[in-house]
Amino acid sequence: MINWRALTKRIPSRVQVSRKSFYEICYVDAFVDKDVLGETRFDRKQIVLKDDQPHKEKVHTYLHELLHAVSEEYEVNLTETQVRALEKAIYYMLKSDNVFRKPKK
Ligand SMILES: [Zn+2]
Repeated sequence: MINWRALTKRIPSRVQVSRKSFYEICYVDAFVDKDVLGETRFDRKQIVLKDDQPHKEKVHTYLHELLHAVSEEYEVNLTETQVRALEKAIYYMLKSDNVFRKPKK
């Protein structure tokens, strides 16, 4: 089981995307378009998240926007459909004791 609440608290204020690219994580009460949960601002290198959303949603929105930032920085040109698919895959990549096993004691 994932503790989504604990995970949202671990979202940093800044994330490194490439050797020279850092994105600031910002929060807003709401976007002009009420359906929008997150936004990546490439010009200012910001990932902006709607603050008021369930913890699980917030983590997924963060990972989703992070993928948009990765797509931009590495010139991958991912489509929205591809970002949505990878958003699901990245969860498994980050899952502990999965891609890397736990360190031996
Ligand atoms: Zn998107």
